[in-house]
Amino acid sequence: MRWFLDTEFAEDGTKIDLISLALVAEPGHFYYACSTAFNPKLVNDWVRDNVLPKLPPRDAPWWKSRTEIADDVRDILLHDGKPELWGYFADYDWVALCQLYGRMVDLPKGFPFWCHDLKQLMEDRGVDKDALPFQTTDEHDALNDARWIRSAWLHLKSATVAASTDLR
Ligand SMILES: [Mg+2]
Repeated sequence: MRWFLDTEFAEDGTKIDLISLALVAEPGHFYYACSTAFNPKLVNDWVRDNVLPKLPPRDAPWWKSRTEIADDVRDILLHDGKPELWGYFADYDWVALCQLYGRMVDLPKGFPFWCHDLKQLMEDRGVDKDALPFQTTDEHDALNDARWIRSAWLHLKSATVAASTDLR
C-alpha cells in the first residue's frame, strides 16, 4: 500500500528532532502522533511561529514517546507487507522517521529503505505546484500536509492516466 508521509521537526544542522509525524494511506486512513521527547523551548523562531501553534493540546492522545511512535509505525508498515512511502521534499522527513529506530542498521527487518518524493515525480512530469490541488487546510501540520501529498499524488496519477489515454 502507498503511505504518504509528513513530519514536523526541529533541526539545528546536526540533529533532526521529530515533533510530529503523519502517515496517510492511499485509501485515506491515517496515523498521526506527536513526540513527547521534543523540547519546545529549543526550537527556532520559525518552528515556534509556524509549527507549535498547530499541535494538539499536550493532554491529547496523539502525544506519545518516541518508542511508542516507532513501534506503531513499524507495526503499521510491516503489517502492510510491501509499503511504498511518499513524501514531499521528503529527505528530512525520511531521516526523522528512520531515526526513531536509531542507526540505519537498526531499521526493523522488512522496513522500507527509501522514500519516494512527490517533488521528483513533479519534475519528471513537468508539473508545477500551481497545477496541483490547493491545500485548503493549515500547512505545517503533519496530518494536513500528508493528506495534501496524498491528494497531489492522486491528481498526478489521474493526470498520467489521462495523458496515456490521449496517446492511444
Ligand atoms: Mg509539514
